Amino acid sequence: MSATDPICDLCQAARLTTWHHEDDICWVADCEVCDVPMVVWKHHGTDPPPTDLAHMKAMLERAALARFDDWAIDQVRRQIPDHWHAHGRPAGKSALQWWTRRFMGK
Ligand SMILES: [Zn+2]
Ligand SMILES: [Zn+2]
Repeated sequence: MSATDPICDLCQAARLTTWHHEDDICWVADCEVCDVPMVVWKHHGTDPPPTDLAHMKAMLERAALARFDDWAIDQVRRQIPDHWHAHGRPAGKSALQWWTRRFMGK
């Protein structure tokens, strides 16, 4: 069972960036806007059941740790509030390195 919304960007799941993971519950890709790993639930809604939530956090953790030594989950949905997704943002020393790279160029 899946509920999707034809005008929702996350339901469209356009492969514009690097994809890290996909399964029946979610997909993980780099966020086009933030350039950090992002996990997206495959259902259009904001209330995943606890088992899905645990699974998605684990998948995000895997992608985030491949990229950053230190990271934190960010579940604030700024751009698409009605579809559950979360970002894995760099934390601590990794955040400093990430911002430096972003502003200084590669
Ligand atoms: Zn983002
Ligand atoms: Zn959606």
